[in-house]
Amino acid sequence: MRKYNFNAGPSVLPQETVVNTMKAMQDFEGTGIGLMEISHRTKGFEAVMNEASDLFKELLNIPEGYSVIFLGGGASLQFCMVPYNLLEKKAAYLNTGTWASKALKEAKLFGETVEVASSKAANFTYIPKDYVIPTDADYFHITTNNTIFGTEIHTDLDSPIPVVADMSSDIFSRPVDVSKYGLIYGGAQKNLAPAGVTFVIVKDSLLGKVSRQIPTMLDYRTHIKDGSMFNTPPVVPVYAAVQTLRWLKNLGGVEAMYQLNKEKAGLLYEEIDRNKLFHGTTAVEDRSLMNICFVLNDEYKDLEDEFYQFATQKGMVGIKGHRSVGGFRASTYNALPKEAIVALIDAMQEFEKAH
Ligand SMILES: *Cc1c(COP(=O)(O)O)cnc(C)c1O
Repeated sequence: MRKYNFNAGPSVLPQETVVNTMKAMQDFEGTGIGLMEISHRTKGFEAVMNEASDLFKELLNIPEGYSVIFLGGGASLQFCMVPYNLLEKKAAYLNTGTWASKALKEAKLFGETVEVASSKAANFTYIPKDYVIPTDADYFHITTNNTIFGTEIHTDLDSPIPVVADMSSDIFSRPVDVSKYGLIYGGAQKNLAPAGVTFVIVKDSLLGKVSRQIPTMLDYRTHIKDGSMFNTPPVVPVYAAVQTLRWLKNLGGVEAMYQLNKEKAGLLYEEIDRNKLFHGTTAVEDRSLMNICFVLNDEYKDLEDEFYQFATQKGMVGIKGHRSVGGFRASTYNALPKEAIVALIDAMQEFEKAH
Protein backbone atom coordinates (compact mmCIF):
# COMPACT_ATOMS: atom_id res chain seq x y z
CA MET A 1 0.00 0.00 0.00
CA ARG A 2 1.20 3.57 -0.77
CA LYS A 3 1.80 5.60 2.39
CA TYR A 4 0.38 9.05 2.98
CA ASN A 5 3.53 10.98 2.12
CA PHE A 6 3.69 14.35 3.90
CA ASN A 7 7.43 14.80 3.28
CA ALA A 8 8.65 18.35 2.64
CA GLY A 9 10.97 17.41 -0.22
CA PRO A 10 11.72 15.21 -2.01
CA SER A 11 8.04 14.60 -1.73
CA VAL A 12 4.96 12.93 -3.15
CA LEU A 13 4.61 12.90 -6.94
CA PRO A 14 1.56 12.02 -9.03
CA GLN A 15 1.19 8.25 -9.43
CA GLU A 16 1.20 8.86 -13.20
CA THR A 17 4.64 10.48 -13.00
CA VAL A 18 6.01 7.52 -11.09
CA VAL A 19 4.49 4.87 -13.38
CA ASN A 20 5.26 6.58 -16.70
CA THR A 21 8.86 7.29 -15.68
CA MET A 22 9.27 3.71 -14.48
CA LYS A 23 8.08 2.40 -17.86
CA ALA A 24 10.40 4.76 -19.73
CA MET A 25 13.28 3.57 -17.55
CA GLN A 26 12.93 0.17 -19.21
CA ASP A 27 12.07 1.32 -22.71
CA PHE A 28 12.10 4.96 -23.76
CA GLU A 29 9.38 5.43 -26.37
CA GLY A 30 9.92 2.10 -28.08
CA THR A 31 13.63 2.69 -28.71
CA GLY A 32 14.57 -0.56 -26.98
CA ILE A 33 16.79 1.29 -24.52
CA GLY A 34 15.94 2.83 -21.19
CA LEU A 35 15.61 6.49 -20.22
CA MET A 36 18.78 6.33 -18.11
CA GLU A 37 20.71 4.93 -21.08
CA ILE A 38 19.70 7.18 -23.97
CA SER A 39 21.78 10.02 -25.34
CA HIS A 40 20.35 13.45 -24.59
CA ARG A 41 21.30 14.38 -28.16
CA THR A 42 18.48 12.40 -29.74
CA LYS A 43 15.34 13.66 -31.44
CA GLY A 44 13.33 11.79 -28.80
CA PHE A 45 14.90 13.52 -25.85
CA GLU A 46 15.04 16.92 -27.55
CA ALA A 47 11.26 16.63 -27.87
CA VAL A 48 11.00 15.94 -24.12
CA MET A 49 13.10 19.00 -23.30
CA ASN A 50 11.03 21.19 -25.63
CA GLU A 51 7.79 19.87 -24.15
CA ALA A 52 9.06 20.71 -20.66
CA SER A 53 9.64 24.37 -21.52
CA ASP A 54 6.46 24.57 -23.65
CA LEU A 55 4.35 23.24 -20.78
CA PHE A 56 5.94 25.72 -18.39
CA LYS A 57 5.05 28.54 -20.78
CA GLU A 58 1.52 27.29 -21.35
CA LEU A 59 0.61 26.41 -17.76
CA LEU A 60 2.09 29.56 -16.22
CA ASN A 61 1.05 31.76 -19.12
CA ILE A 62 4.61 33.06 -19.49
CA PRO A 63 4.72 36.19 -21.68
CA GLU A 64 7.04 36.80 -24.64
CA GLY A 65 10.53 37.90 -23.72
CA TYR A 66 11.09 35.25 -21.07
CA SER A 67 13.16 32.06 -21.33
CA VAL A 68 12.64 28.80 -19.45
CA ILE A 69 15.74 26.73 -18.74
CA PHE A 70 16.52 23.56 -16.82
CA LEU A 71 19.76 23.28 -14.87
CA GLY A 72 21.52 21.20 -12.25
CA GLY A 73 22.74 22.33 -8.85
CA GLY A 74 19.42 22.74 -7.06
CA ALA A 75 17.80 25.94 -5.89
CA SER A 76 20.90 26.42 -3.72
CA LEU A 77 23.09 27.06 -6.77
CA GLN A 78 20.65 29.80 -7.80
CA PHE A 79 21.46 31.59 -4.54
CA CYS A 80 24.81 32.50 -6.13
CA MET A 81 23.89 32.32 -9.83
CA VAL A 82 21.28 35.08 -9.40
CA PRO A 83 23.71 37.68 -8.01
CA TYR A 84 26.46 36.48 -10.38
CA ASN A 85 24.23 37.40 -13.34
CA LEU A 86 22.18 40.29 -11.97
CA LEU A 87 23.94 42.11 -9.12
CA GLU A 88 25.93 45.09 -10.34
CA LYS A 89 25.62 47.67 -7.54
CA LYS A 90 23.19 46.48 -4.94
CA ALA A 91 20.52 43.86 -4.25
CA ALA A 92 17.55 43.87 -1.87
CA TYR A 93 16.36 40.79 0.03
CA LEU A 94 13.27 40.02 2.10
CA ASN A 95 14.26 37.64 4.89
CA THR A 96 11.40 35.26 5.57
CA GLY A 97 13.20 32.08 6.58
CA THR A 98 16.14 29.72 6.33
CA TRP A 99 16.23 29.60 2.52
CA ALA A 100 15.87 33.36 2.19
CA SER A 101 18.76 33.82 4.67
CA LYS A 102 20.91 31.44 2.66
CA ALA A 103 20.15 33.30 -0.56
CA LEU A 104 21.11 36.62 1.08
CA LYS A 105 24.37 35.16 2.41
CA GLU A 106 25.50 34.25 -1.11
CA ALA A 107 24.54 37.64 -2.58
CA LYS A 108 26.91 39.32 -0.11
CA LEU A 109 29.82 37.75 -2.00
CA PHE A 110 28.92 39.79 -5.07
CA GLY A 111 28.17 43.31 -3.86
CA GLU A 112 26.15 45.48 -1.55
CA THR A 113 22.98 43.96 -0.13
CA VAL A 114 20.06 45.35 1.85
CA GLU A 115 17.79 43.24 4.01
CA VAL A 116 14.61 45.26 3.57
CA ALA A 117 12.79 43.41 6.35
CA SER A 118 13.10 40.24 8.38
CA SER A 119 10.82 38.21 10.64
CA LYS A 120 13.75 36.35 12.19
CA ALA A 121 13.18 37.83 15.67
CA ALA A 122 9.77 36.08 15.67
CA ASN A 123 11.26 32.80 14.35
CA PHE A 124 9.87 33.59 10.88
CA THR A 125 6.24 33.07 11.90
CA TYR A 126 4.97 35.82 9.60
CA ILE A 127 5.75 37.64 6.34
CA PRO A 128 6.88 41.26 6.93
CA LYS A 129 4.69 43.73 5.04
CA ASP A 130 5.75 47.23 5.99
CA TYR A 131 8.93 47.78 4.06
CA VAL A 132 10.18 49.92 1.25
CA ILE A 133 11.87 48.36 -1.78
CA PRO A 134 14.92 50.47 -2.63
CA THR A 135 14.56 51.79 -6.16
CA ASP A 136 18.32 51.87 -6.70
CA ALA A 137 18.82 48.11 -6.20
CA ASP A 138 19.24 45.78 -9.19
CA TYR A 139 16.58 43.37 -7.96
CA PHE A 140 14.40 42.44 -5.01
CA HIS A 141 14.66 38.81 -3.89
CA ILE A 142 11.79 36.99 -2.17
CA THR A 143 11.02 33.41 -1.17
CA THR A 144 7.35 32.96 -2.01
CA ASN A 145 6.83 29.89 0.17
CA ASN A 146 8.84 29.23 3.29
CA THR A 147 8.96 25.46 3.32
CA ILE A 148 10.38 25.15 6.84
CA PHE A 149 8.24 27.73 8.66
CA GLY A 150 4.97 27.32 6.75
CA THR A 151 4.39 30.89 5.59
CA GLU A 152 3.64 32.03 2.06
CA ILE A 153 3.42 35.28 0.10
CA HIS A 154 0.00 34.87 -1.48
CA THR A 155 0.12 37.69 -4.01
CA ASP A 156 2.42 38.78 -6.81
CA LEU A 157 4.07 41.90 -5.39
CA ASP A 158 4.21 45.26 -7.09
CA SER A 159 7.81 46.39 -7.20
CA PRO A 160 9.67 49.28 -8.82
CA ILE A 161 12.62 46.94 -9.53
CA PRO A 162 12.69 43.37 -10.93
CA VAL A 163 11.47 40.75 -8.45
CA VAL A 164 13.50 37.53 -8.21
CA ALA A 165 11.53 34.74 -6.56
CA ASP A 166 12.52 31.38 -5.13
CA MET A 167 9.36 29.36 -5.83
CA SER A 168 10.86 25.94 -5.05
CA SER A 169 7.96 24.82 -2.91
CA ASP A 170 4.93 26.56 -4.41
CA ILE A 171 5.52 26.61 -8.16
CA PHE A 172 2.39 25.41 -10.02
CA SER A 173 0.32 25.53 -6.81
CA ARG A 174 -1.49 28.72 -7.88
CA PRO A 175 -1.68 31.05 -10.88
CA VAL A 176 1.25 33.49 -11.03
CA ASP A 177 1.48 36.71 -13.02
CA VAL A 178 4.94 36.06 -14.45
CA SER A 179 5.11 39.54 -15.94
CA LYS A 180 5.54 40.86 -12.38
CA TYR A 181 8.80 38.93 -11.97
CA GLY A 182 12.26 39.32 -13.45
CA LEU A 183 13.31 35.80 -12.57
CA ILE A 184 11.68 32.78 -10.93
CA TYR A 185 13.62 29.69 -9.89
CA GLY A 186 13.25 26.53 -7.90
CA GLY A 187 14.39 23.00 -7.28
CA ALA A 188 11.99 20.47 -8.78
CA GLN A 189 11.80 18.08 -5.85
CA LYS A 190 8.86 19.71 -4.05
CA ASN A 191 6.09 20.00 -6.60
CA LEU A 192 7.39 18.73 -9.91
CA ALA A 193 9.91 15.92 -10.22
CA PRO A 194 12.60 13.96 -8.42
CA ALA A 195 15.65 15.92 -7.23
CA GLY A 196 18.25 16.79 -9.84
CA VAL A 197 16.69 19.48 -11.99
CA THR A 198 16.21 23.19 -11.29
CA PHE A 199 13.95 25.43 -13.36
CA VAL A 200 14.67 29.07 -14.12
CA ILE A 201 12.23 31.46 -15.79
CA VAL A 202 14.07 34.63 -16.70
CA LYS A 203 13.27 37.86 -18.47
CA ASP A 204 15.85 38.00 -21.25
CA SER A 205 16.28 41.78 -21.10
CA LEU A 206 17.76 41.57 -17.55
CA LEU A 207 20.77 39.58 -18.70
CA GLY A 208 24.14 40.82 -19.95
CA LYS A 209 24.13 43.95 -17.79
CA VAL A 210 26.76 43.15 -15.16
CA SER A 211 30.38 44.12 -15.71
CA ARG A 212 31.96 41.02 -14.13
CA GLN A 213 33.05 37.96 -16.08
CA ILE A 214 30.68 35.02 -15.59
CA PRO A 215 31.95 31.42 -15.88
CA THR A 216 30.26 29.78 -18.88
CA MET A 217 28.27 27.23 -16.87
CA LEU A 218 26.97 29.89 -14.48
CA ASP A 219 25.86 32.30 -17.20
CA TYR A 220 22.12 32.00 -17.88
CA ARG A 221 22.72 33.03 -21.49
CA THR A 222 24.73 29.86 -22.13
CA HIS A 223 21.78 27.68 -21.26
CA ILE A 224 19.22 29.83 -23.04
CA LYS A 225 21.30 29.76 -26.22
CA ASP A 226 21.70 25.97 -26.13
CA GLY A 227 18.14 25.11 -25.06
CA SER A 228 19.28 23.69 -21.70
CA MET A 229 21.61 21.33 -23.61
CA PHE A 230 24.98 23.09 -23.20
CA ASN A 231 26.04 20.10 -21.15
CA THR A 232 24.25 16.85 -20.30
CA PRO A 233 20.96 17.78 -18.68
CA PRO A 234 19.36 15.69 -15.90
CA VAL A 235 17.47 13.47 -18.33
CA VAL A 236 15.38 11.42 -15.89
CA PRO A 237 14.10 14.33 -13.74
CA VAL A 238 13.24 16.36 -16.87
CA TYR A 239 11.24 13.42 -18.23
CA ALA A 240 9.45 13.05 -14.89
CA ALA A 241 8.71 16.79 -14.81
CA VAL A 242 6.99 16.51 -18.19
CA GLN A 243 4.79 13.71 -16.83
CA THR A 244 3.80 15.88 -13.85
CA LEU A 245 3.05 18.86 -16.10
CA ARG A 246 0.87 16.73 -18.41
CA TRP A 247 -0.98 15.47 -15.31
CA LEU A 248 -1.47 19.05 -14.14
CA LYS A 249 -2.73 20.16 -17.55
CA ASN A 250 -5.24 17.29 -17.66
CA LEU A 251 -6.55 18.30 -14.24
CA GLY A 252 -7.30 21.79 -15.53
CA GLY A 253 -4.00 23.61 -14.92
CA VAL A 254 -2.88 25.88 -12.10
CA GLU A 255 -6.26 27.51 -11.47
CA ALA A 256 -7.92 24.12 -10.86
CA MET A 257 -4.94 23.07 -8.74
CA TYR A 258 -5.19 26.29 -6.71
CA GLN A 259 -8.84 25.58 -5.88
CA LEU A 260 -7.93 22.06 -4.81
CA ASN A 261 -4.99 23.29 -2.73
CA LYS A 262 -7.16 25.86 -0.96
CA GLU A 263 -9.70 23.16 -0.19
CA LYS A 264 -7.07 20.70 1.10
CA ALA A 265 -5.17 23.22 3.23
CA GLY A 266 -8.45 24.76 4.43
CA LEU A 267 -9.64 21.41 5.81
CA LEU A 268 -6.44 20.83 7.74
CA TYR A 269 -6.18 24.38 9.14
CA GLU A 270 -9.81 24.15 10.23
CA GLU A 271 -9.01 21.01 12.20
CA ILE A 272 -5.85 22.54 13.72
CA ASP A 273 -7.93 25.53 14.90
CA ARG A 274 -10.75 23.34 16.23
CA ASN A 275 -8.80 20.52 17.90
CA LYS A 276 -8.14 21.15 21.62
CA LEU A 277 -4.70 19.51 21.41
CA PHE A 278 -3.09 21.55 18.64
CA HIS A 279 -2.47 25.04 17.35
CA GLY A 280 -0.88 26.54 14.25
CA THR A 281 2.52 28.24 14.44
CA THR A 282 2.17 31.11 11.95
CA ALA A 283 0.21 34.31 11.41
CA VAL A 284 -3.18 33.26 10.02
CA GLU A 285 -3.05 35.54 6.97
CA ASP A 286 0.37 34.17 5.94
CA ARG A 287 -0.46 30.47 6.26
CA SER A 288 1.10 28.39 3.53
CA LEU A 289 -1.05 26.19 1.32
CA MET A 290 1.91 23.83 0.85
CA ASN A 291 3.53 23.33 4.26
CA ILE A 292 1.24 23.29 7.24
CA CYS A 293 3.00 23.60 10.60
CA PHE A 294 1.31 22.86 13.90
CA VAL A 295 2.33 22.02 17.47
CA LEU A 296 0.68 20.58 20.56
CA ASN A 297 -0.72 23.07 23.05
CA ASP A 298 1.50 23.51 26.12
CA GLU A 299 -0.61 21.35 28.41
CA TYR A 300 -0.33 18.46 25.93
CA LYS A 301 3.33 18.97 24.95
CA ASP A 302 4.43 15.59 26.31
CA LEU A 303 2.18 13.81 23.78
CA GLU A 304 4.41 14.71 20.84
CA ASP A 305 6.11 11.34 20.40
CA GLU A 306 2.86 9.53 21.04
CA PHE A 307 1.00 11.41 18.31
CA TYR A 308 3.89 10.89 15.93
CA GLN A 309 3.79 7.11 16.56
CA PHE A 310 0.00 7.10 16.27
CA ALA A 311 0.08 8.84 12.88
CA THR A 312 2.89 6.58 11.70
CA GLN A 313 0.82 3.50 12.52
CA LYS A 314 -1.96 4.95 10.40
CA GLY A 315 0.29 5.09 7.35
CA MET A 316 1.53 8.67 7.58
CA VAL A 317 5.11 9.52 6.68
CA GLY A 318 7.05 12.75 7.03
CA ILE A 319 4.88 14.73 9.46
CA LYS A 320 7.67 15.62 11.89
CA GLY A 321 8.24 19.38 11.98
CA HIS A 322 11.62 20.81 11.01
CA ARG A 323 13.92 21.00 14.03
CA SER A 324 13.81 24.82 13.97
CA VAL A 325 10.02 24.80 14.50
CA GLY A 326 9.34 21.48 16.25
CA GLY A 327 5.96 19.80 16.39
CA PHE A 328 4.50 18.72 13.10
CA ARG A 329 4.55 19.75 9.47
CA ALA A 330 2.24 18.33 6.85
CA SER A 331 3.45 19.17 3.37
CA THR A 332 0.40 19.28 1.16
CA TYR A 333 1.89 19.59 -2.31
CA ASN A 334 -0.14 19.35 -5.51
CA ALA A 335 0.21 15.57 -5.77
CA LEU A 336 -0.87 14.84 -2.20
CA PRO A 337 -4.37 13.37 -2.52
CA LYS A 338 -7.20 14.83 -0.45
CA GLU A 339 -7.59 11.36 1.14
CA ALA A 340 -4.24 11.88 2.87
CA ILE A 341 -5.52 15.10 4.48
CA VAL A 342 -8.73 13.39 5.52
CA ALA A 343 -6.72 10.52 7.06
CA LEU A 344 -4.57 12.99 9.03
CA ILE A 345 -7.64 14.85 10.27
CA ASP A 346 -9.23 11.54 11.34
CA ALA A 347 -6.05 10.66 13.23
CA MET A 348 -6.05 14.05 14.98
CA GLN A 349 -9.68 13.63 16.00
CA GLU A 350 -9.23 10.08 17.22
CA PHE A 351 -6.15 11.16 19.20
CA GLU A 352 -8.09 14.07 20.70
CA LYS A 353 -10.87 11.72 21.87
CA ALA A 354 -8.31 9.46 23.56
CA HIS A 355 -6.92 12.37 25.59
C1 LIG B 1 14.08 23.00 -0.70
C2 LIG B 1 14.26 24.43 -0.91
C3 LIG B 1 15.49 24.98 -1.34
C4 LIG B 1 16.72 24.15 -1.55
O1 LIG B 1 16.62 23.41 -2.70
P1 LIG B 1 17.83 22.52 -3.25
O2 LIG B 1 17.31 22.11 -4.57
O3 LIG B 1 17.99 21.39 -2.28
O4 LIG B 1 19.04 23.36 -3.31
C5 LIG B 1 15.55 26.33 -1.57
N1 LIG B 1 14.47 27.13 -1.39
C6 LIG B 1 13.29 26.65 -0.96
C7 LIG B 1 12.13 27.57 -0.77
C8 LIG B 1 13.15 25.28 -0.71
O5 LIG B 1 11.97 24.79 -0.29
